Amino acid sequence: MTTKPDISIIIPFYNEEDNVINVYNALKTVLEKEQYAYEIIAVDDGSRDDTWNRLKSLAESDETLRAFRLRRNFGQTPALAAGFDKARGQKIITMDGDGQNDPEDIPLLIKKLDEGYDLVSGWRKDRKDPFVSRRLPSILANKLIKRVTRVPINDLGCSLKIYRKEIIDHIQLYGELHRFLPVLAKWVGARIGETPVRHHPRKFGQSKYGISRTIRVLLDLITVKFLMSYSTSPIQIFGATGIWFIIFGFLSGIATVLMRLITVNGEPIRTMTRNPLLIIAGVSIVIGIQFIIMGLLGEINIRTYYESQKKPIYIIGESSDKHEM
Ligand code: UDP
Ligand code: MG
Repeated sequence: MTTKPDISIIIPFYNEEDNVINVYNALKTVLEKEQYAYEIIAVDDGSRDDTWNRLKSLAESDETLRAFRLRRNFGQTPALAAGFDKARGQKIITMDGDGQNDPEDIPLLIKKLDEGYDLVSGWRKDRKDPFVSRRLPSILANKLIKRVTRVPINDLGCSLKIYRKEIIDHIQLYGELHRFLPVLAKWVGARIGETPVRHHPRKFGQSKYGISRTIRVLLDLITVKFLMSYSTSPIQIFGATGIWFIIFGFLSGIATVLMRLITVNGEPIRTMTRNPLLIIAGVSIVIGIQFIIMGLLGEINIRTYYESQKKPIYIIGESSDKHEM
């Protein structure tokens, strides 16, 4: 390919043999109509059906289609990460390879991005999936995530999204965190927008996820929330907890002594060895010290994390400096 594309469209495929052609055709129609300088990056996530052969034969006659096959089924997040690594466009679009997203929405996403966002997420307002197993858990999870992370997105699970490359370049994906991309993006300072998009029922193949996804999403939420606070300053999270434990321990200790010293009718209120507060005092102080030590270990951790990668603890968005080479 000679010209460098402006727009990269990344599509992960896992056992989607009957969707490949339709998704490709629908996408191609829109991209050609809008006359974008584009590339399509198809990532076959170790499919066991005919997906790869179909992608390969499409790619043979279309140089805008770049197809890659992962050695095994790594999962949607690694498949997307592979796509991000290959993408050369300044604007990166992701969508599903199952025909549920509508490529007709792409111009909409681009328009919205150009209004001054770094990431625009699709919102499946009229989602075509089963209610109890998919839509209901999704609504609840989205509400919770919105509250915990304060990222104003109503439908994190929608794959149809557009990103500026410089944002993606700052994000490292792990596990199944592709669903939290807007949260991770917000963390690196992205301006985030949302726009309603169409959604179609799955015509061929099966969904790769079931209701068990809900628990995994919750666990991921804990990770993301924790990392967001932890990587700023571990001693602040652990240390504060530790200090409260120690204060509580000391107060219990003082109470134990007072209860021994103050007498009623010549008898102490409680002797120290018979007072459960004594144990509570000891345990609390030990726990408190442990927390502070964990905070300190965390501090060492983040120094290793940043310094081993020579990663700054800030990200510059723009500059009007003439002195730097
Ligand atoms: N996918 C993938 N690897 C996986 C699971 C899914 O590449 O291990 C792809 C799948 O082919 C589809 C997209 O990710 O293009 C979304 O998957 P699916 O449609 O099953 O999710 P749902 O829309 O039901 O949430
Ligand atoms: Mg789907």
